[in-house]
Amino acid sequence: RAKAKSRGSISIYEPEMDQQIRDRRVLHQDLSVAIRNGELSLHYQPQAMAHQTVAGSKVIGFEALARWMHPVRGFVSPGDFIPLAEESGLIVEMGEWILREACREAASWPMPLQIAVNLSPAQFMHGDVVGLVHSILLETGLAPGRLELEITEGVLIEDFDRGLALLRRLKALGVRVSMDDFGSGYSSLSYLQAFPFDKIKIDRDFVINLGRNPQSASIVRAVISLGHGLEMSIVAEGVETQEQLAFLADSGCDAVQGYFLGRPAPIGQYAALVGRNPGDTMEPARKTG
Ligand code: C2E
Ligand code: MG
Ligand code: MG
Ligand code: MG
Repeated sequence: RAKAKSRGSISIYEPEMDQQIRDRRVLHQDLSVAIRNGELSLHYQPQAMAHQTVAGSKVIGFEALARWMHPVRGFVSPGDFIPLAEESGLIVEMGEWILREACREAASWPMPLQIAVNLSPAQFMHGDVVGLVHSILLETGLAPGRLELEITEGVLIEDFDRGLALLRRLKALGVRVSMDDFGSGYSSLSYLQAFPFDKIKIDRDFVINLGRNPQSASIVRAVISLGHGLEMSIVAEGVETQEQLAFLADSGCDAVQGYFLGRPAPIGQYAALVGRNPGDTMEPARKTG
């Protein structure tokens, strides 16, 4: 907004902007004590086989999603605090906490389900991500094959060689790597071939538009076929309706994730699915808060 206003030769003083800068600074400070104060937690969102989900689903794993409960502001979205943590360098400590917490949690499940953890760009490109993953696997006892690391394609653009080397070293540990939000950014099909991803997560934007826009349907079908050709599995994000699910299952999409199946929630809400109580199936569209 400020940028647009100052495009001419004079820039207009905006007290509002000062406020925003102050807000950010305070939020930074708050974030630095958030881990210590136990304000950070993880929610878990199920992923299930697309086909079996039509009938009554088969959950294959969960994605861990960070949540910050700020003492005054209440819930702050990861879309807001992860970039803030990256700018301030806090992402190192925070990312480590998230990875450890998710692995520790998954290692405690009776069912050997997958656990997907998001890696931020800075964490991936500038930290010792391989060393960290290795030591957390040893520490928590989680089988490497159960851990899936999600990174966005944009991250790899920064430094192709380093990105490729990191992916290979991570895969050598036995963990899986997913390309998150595929199609949302710089999407280049050549990336799919160049990088050894195990899984492609089709961005929610395409899924939203499935019923509205015939091009989205074509793109989704093309990505599924291309991914399969490269021996990658395909997950669709943000599946909210029966119609979207039916289309995806019909198009050969391997797995789905979205509100239709279940919202991100504390793991207690999915106790039965991880094997803590009897039963390992769930009804589609079950409300989970
Ligand atoms: P993402 O990795 O693409 O995660 C999926 C986001 O879509 C989550 O938002 C999830 O709550 C939301 N979502 C899932 N299903 C549906 C649906 O059916 N409809 C709609 N409208 N939304 C759905 P969330 O939790 O707010 O996270 C936003 C982003 O923040 C994530 O996108 C991820 O990039 C980042 N993030 C979240 N947790 C972490 C974390 O622990 N570490 C890092 N580095 N980034 C994280
Ligand atoms: Mg993700
Ligand atoms: Mg995603
Ligand atoms: Mg997304």
